[in-house]
Amino acid sequence: MPATRVRLLVMNAALGPLDYRVPEGMAVEHGSVVVAPLGPRQVTGIVWEDERLPTNPVPEEKLRPLLGVLDVPPILAPLRRLIEWTADYYVAPLAAVARMVIASGGALRGPATMTEYRLTGGTPERMTPQRAAAIEALDGEQATIRELAGIAGVSEGVLRGLVNQGVLEPVEVDVDRPYPRAAADHHLPGLSDDQREVADRLVELVEAREFAPVLLDGVTGSGKTETYFEAIGAAIAQDRQVLVMLPEIALTEAFLSRFEERFGAAPVVWHSSLKSAERRRAWRAIASGEAQVVVGARSALFLPYANLGLIVVDEAHEISFKQDDGVRYNARDVAVMRARFEKFPVILASATPALESLHMADTGIYEKLVLPSRFGGAQLPEIHLVDLTEEKPGSGQWIAPPLRRALFDRLEKGEQSLLFLNRRGYAPLTLCRHCGFRFQCPNCSAWLVEHRLSKRLACHHCGHETAPPEKCPECGEPDCLVACGPGVERIADEVAEMLPEARVAVVTSDTLNSPEKAAEFVAMAEARAIDVIVGTQLVTKGFHFPELTLVGVIDADLGLEGGDLRAAERTYQQVAQVAGRAGRGAKPGEVLIQTRHPEAAVIAALEAGDRDAFYEAETEARRYAQAPPFGRWAAIIISSEDEKEAREAAQRLGDTRPILDDVQVLGPAPAPMALLRGRYRYRLLLNARRSAELQQVIRVWLAGIDHPPGIRIGVDIDPYSFV
Ligand code: ADP
Ligand code: ZN
Repeated sequence: MPATRVRLLVMNAALGPLDYRVPEGMAVEHGSVVVAPLGPRQVTGIVWEDERLPTNPVPEEKLRPLLGVLDVPPILAPLRRLIEWTADYYVAPLAAVARMVIASGGALRGPATMTEYRLTGGTPERMTPQRAAAIEALDGEQATIRELAGIAGVSEGVLRGLVNQGVLEPVEVDVDRPYPRAAADHHLPGLSDDQREVADRLVELVEAREFAPVLLDGVTGSGKTETYFEAIGAAIAQDRQVLVMLPEIALTEAFLSRFEERFGAAPVVWHSSLKSAERRRAWRAIASGEAQVVVGARSALFLPYANLGLIVVDEAHEISFKQDDGVRYNARDVAVMRARFEKFPVILASATPALESLHMADTGIYEKLVLPSRFGGAQLPEIHLVDLTEEKPGSGQWIAPPLRRALFDRLEKGEQSLLFLNRRGYAPLTLCRHCGFRFQCPNCSAWLVEHRLSKRLACHHCGHETAPPEKCPECGEPDCLVACGPGVERIADEVAEMLPEARVAVVTSDTLNSPEKAAEFVAMAEARAIDVIVGTQLVTKGFHFPELTLVGVIDADLGLEGGDLRAAERTYQQVAQVAGRAGRGAKPGEVLIQTRHPEAAVIAALEAGDRDAFYEAETEARRYAQAPPFGRWAAIIISSEDEKEAREAAQRLGDTRPILDDVQVLGPAPAPMALLRGRYRYRLLLNARRSAELQQVIRVWLAGIDHPPGIRIGVDIDPYSFV
């Protein structure tokens, strides 16, 4: 008998589960996405198992009827379980997680068409040079007016004129028209023996259709991508979907062309800046099973794939897989859970795996597959330290003599160099020479960073920007502002001064802010139109430039100063990854690491190329500190626009802290970023034994206290950022 009443998980975190009546003739099942009345408004909800969403049932006579079932496939049971697991584990509202599944409002509206235009073959009554150029450029094209204007390089007005003249005609097209099909065997690579062995194992796992977490541990340039492509091919051959998660959109372009070469068609792309039509098209293709391979940022993880058979998390150690607002989840870890619920393999690929992942492999929970050497006989680069306490850069400079000599040498030989400094902009701090005034963000506990390219002082936390003033706002002295410390723009200036003929490119999220810009940069670097790349962490991974033979790390100590739990690990990963950009082609690479602490364990391990020594030392340090993977951390951030209100709320929480043997509560204390985006922040840290029911402890604790409406409480389980 069909259900006559249903319980909904509604897409509104402020509401609990709601019960409705199913009107006669309406067919719903668990997972159906429906529209229901809520007071005078409507809400979207997912039909859920009653027993999994306990609430006080509404009496039969008070039930209101559902308004309709949306024309999308039901959310399948394993994904419903993943939503529950994520909400439970990360102490987040179910609705907030479910919203990441229903990530396209447009897609819910059902099939749709849009109008595109194409040439009819006719000619306008009056030909102008612009019209002639447009007609020539648009031969064989069909797209929206806006897209055609882009292609032809004319205004939309010119094209509208051509529509009125009958030169362009409208065509109704399906918004969700199908994507080109990828073929598993479009272009098969010749794999090395090592690669073949790993690829065969991955294929075997895909074909087995069982949960199988794999750590693909291969040095930079070993062909991890090439190898997991074989596993993707196996899933395509089985007609199952694949998700590849990349840490940065900037890496997508290079990935797309490689993918297309191997499989004959581009994958479906998913990231937060898709236009809404692209978004709904991708969402519907994912939900129907038509999208074969999806490449995306972490937000692609929660989409309602019809038939997923493999997830690859590339550069799985990257911290960008951790979301730090809203639902604070780690996509790498949730990917493993998704694979478990849906029974397929998940591949975590990295040259510098997270300690947690290595630990899982060493304890036999993950299978470890290793690619020990670079492809095609390329050697790993030579690594040397530059001790900045002995080899001092000139005054106002940051590049020490040995690195200067190496840069000269590469330019002379026509080879490329890469300088790495993880600081955007020109200088991290600006102050007044006269009175010492420092430019600080009005909304955040942070200095304003000078950006000379865009002539701005900017906050990297909230986006606040201002033009650099002519005189000091404190003492009124003109022309007294000095830049302190280097950012990449300043290093680029130093290079330009030292090597006036060198072509220098600054690569940061400011300059590579779209897939097109990223593609342009890659093309220029490959064509050897760039001699020196100066970049942030954005250039540390993924890129493959065969002529790049020198990597200089401007300040290896920078990452160690933050004092957060993973500082050493992150420094190791960043430097090892950026070092991995050198010598990927036939010519050997060299890496110079500038440091003031050559004796630090992480720096010494980098120099010796001794990864195991680093991980062993780091493992012991973590064991001692009861840090992950041996113990667990959680952070609770209390914030308000009102300092006193935030402080008092934090105090109330502190006063009611749970007293337990296996959970220790530290704080409350002002967070390191005590002011962020206009909100004052206090923090409590929890350190728990693995056996503790950490989430349950937090839920019970937080539920016991009421706060004024201006207070926000954020829970961060397994935090990465300690600010
Ligand atoms: P990783 O992902 O481990 O850093 P890649 O898969 O990017 O390594 O491979 C490094 C370079 O070597 C790429 O340019 C890739 O095209 C090339 N390469 C790797 N394996 C092969 C292969 N079997 N045949 C041809 N080229 C390969
Ligand atoms: Zn700010």
